[in-house]
Amino acid sequence: MIDRRAFLKIAGIASGALFIPKTKIEWPPSVIVNFKVRGPYYALTVDDGWTGPNIEPFLIYAASNNLVPFTWFANGVGIRRIRESETAMRILLNRGIEIGYHTMHHPSVADQRRNYNRARWIEDYDEWLEHAIETCGDHRYKVKPYARAAGGYFSVSFLEMCEIRGLMPIGWSKDPYVVSRGASIRKGDIFLTHFRDSEWGWFNHLKNLREADGMFGMTISEMIYLEDCARGRYKRLF
Ligand SMILES: [Zn+2]
Repeated sequence: MIDRRAFLKIAGIASGALFIPKTKIEWPPSVIVNFKVRGPYYALTVDDGWTGPNIEPFLIYAASNNLVPFTWFANGVGIRRIRESETAMRILLNRGIEIGYHTMHHPSVADQRRNYNRARWIEDYDEWLEHAIETCGDHRYKVKPYARAAGGYFSVSFLEMCEIRGLMPIGWSKDPYVVSRGASIRKGDIFLTHFRDSEWGWFNHLKNLREADGMFGMTISEMIYLEDCARGRYKRLF
């Protein structure tokens, strides 16, 4: 049986915990989260791969001229999936889409903490790269040296792998969560969405953004090669 004084102490700690503000993601300094550009441009990035049959609506959409070009941070599942579909591959590769690394196995943050040291990340990246290059064939130049950690968890070992393999770690500054709560996409932002049914509407939103507000989405490479572009934040961590 717990006595009253002990109970108050525990209750005090518990209710105190409720008032701790939710901390926002602290990106390590070497992760690029936005770009400095003068023009009305932002980078569009799409993460993960397809699960289930929902690749079809995307392909129909992509085949129209409405697709905003993007950098696809593909995981192993995504790479395997386009491999299975020639149409998917043709459309993706001919529509100004480029591919960046988003891990082979997309481990959870807990799994990453327990099992992923630098050597394991290097292994993961090399396996992914082999698949990506094989899948893209003659379009292998579409596989770019950009990396996004699974779950946005840019650990030191992940960043060390990036440094060793010459990859630029790319985070993001806006996503559907913040934009649907009133934030707007501004120049230099990196916007993140997913190949998920629930996030489909965003492709249309971004198309409208171009038509209504003159804000142009583009790939990370296009952004970097803009004449007036400087990286918003890119410092060596080590
Ligand atoms: Zn992911």
